[in-house]
Amino acid sequence: MSGLVADLRSALPDDRVVDDPAVVAGYAHDEAEWAPHGRPAAVVRARSTADVRAVVLTCLRHRTPLVPRGAGTGLSGGANALDGCVVLSTERMTAIREIDPVEQLAVVEPGVVNDHLRAACAEHGLWYPPDPASSPWSTIGGNVATNAGGLCCVKYGVTRDYVLGMQVVTGEGEVVRLGRRTAKGVAGYDLTGLMVGSEGTLGIVTEVTVRLRPARPPERTVVGHFASTVDAGRAVGLVSAAGVVPSAFELVDRRCLEAVDAWKNMGLAVDAEVLLLGRSDARDDGEALLLQECFEKAGATYAAASTDAAEAEALFAARRLAYPAMERLGPVLTEDVCVPRAAVPEMLARVGRAAEQHDTVIANIAHVGDGNLHPLIITPAGDDDARVRAQRAFAQIIDGALELGGTVSGEHGIGLLKREGLARELSPAVLTMHRAVKQALDPAGILNPGKAF
Ligand SMILES: Cc1cc2nc3c(=O)[nH]c(=O)nc-3n(C[C@H](O)[C@H](O)[C@H](O)COP(=O)(O)OP(=O)(O)OC[C@H]3O[C@@H](n4cnc5c(N)ncnc54)[C@H](O)[C@@H]3O)c2cc1C
Repeated sequence: MSGLVADLRSALPDDRVVDDPAVVAGYAHDEAEWAPHGRPAAVVRARSTADVRAVVLTCLRHRTPLVPRGAGTGLSGGANALDGCVVLSTERMTAIREIDPVEQLAVVEPGVVNDHLRAACAEHGLWYPPDPASSPWSTIGGNVATNAGGLCCVKYGVTRDYVLGMQVVTGEGEVVRLGRRTAKGVAGYDLTGLMVGSEGTLGIVTEVTVRLRPARPPERTVVGHFASTVDAGRAVGLVSAAGVVPSAFELVDRRCLEAVDAWKNMGLAVDAEVLLLGRSDARDDGEALLLQECFEKAGATYAAASTDAAEAEALFAARRLAYPAMERLGPVLTEDVCVPRAAVPEMLARVGRAAEQHDTVIANIAHVGDGNLHPLIITPAGDDDARVRAQRAFAQIIDGALELGGTVSGEHGIGLLKREGLARELSPAVLTMHRAVKQALDPAGILNPGKAF
């Protein structure tokens, strides 16, 4: 047993440390198939803040990298292991400590699965809005560390908008409380906001206080069929120009629908290249009708407010399952660029050109109402030439998004896959500011080194 593993074992209760290579291998990477990863020396399944602190102090003594991990559903390699590192898993920190209907907040441990929190809130007539498509699996800690977005974020905002405070173990092993429980508060720098989206590079989140909203009325779904992604992109522009803010606004193309249908046999056969799925949670039908009108004006071959709730739910389920369904066809390189809404048609056209120019297959899903596109670049397993072409298409899409005034990552984070993109997006002075913050909070550089920048 290495000195590191022996020290972890003596610092922690019996069942926390695992170094069996077969188990450890399952914690070596997230869902970003293309990002490189190493082999961890050990995995610690922490149960408390005290456990997390003990791991940080041990890693500090050994100058060993420490990689925090929630459910490992990340799509940028953020939770990927480095050789000889310790992976700190929060999967057993699953307590929902408090749901306060008066203050409309919840206090949770980081390993709570997003859907579990949402279900617990619903029992109190409350709602936790951030809903990444990975909500059945991903954790609140991972959502906070990536500032996860999701389907209803187009109207209700992203994870950052719901994090009031948190407990964090810093890179020096200090346990600190950041933020507040009150509805308002401006005391000091917004260090809570800084931690949100920091991808495990500045501290390990061991408790989160989130803001809740009252539960909503049931939503109506409006479906639009389009002959091309560009027509669908035009519809997005029209919806935005009409001042309509749907409660979800998603795009899914024929390739994804077919892949989901082949996998789950959901009877989704649709005679269109692209589907737009809009939702309205307004109390009357007006907003849903406006959405339908915008789809029709943009040239939809079919547009209707769904009267069949089961069918509408099946289409949204297909949207959520699109990524794992495409993964069954071969390694998927996932894009996550976000562009101004008005630039969506042009960006979709550029994605199409990148596919043609680099002879790659690109399927499209998108949180299209936010301008957040997820072109999925699929390659046949074991085809090295195809991988090279896919990487060129990936780089070209990033260039396109930056040219259109967009950003390299709308929600998945930088991790390993977007490091070059981030360096292109941020100026050298801003990157220097990032390094100064990292140095202040993690002076030994043990927290998730090599990720993000
Ligand atoms: C099918 C599918 C659909 C998805 N849909 C969406 C979507 O709609 N929107 C979206 O935003 N993302 C989406 N994702 C990506 C992913 O689910 C999110 O990034 C999610 O927030 C990751 O949560 P996780 O618990 O799996 O974290 P992990 O993947 O384990 O970790 C993610 C990052 O957070 C860090 N981290 C984890 N826990 C902590 C902690 N306690 N303290 C500090 N750092 C920590 C890790 O080091 C890593 O950098 C999707 C992924 C899949 C597979």
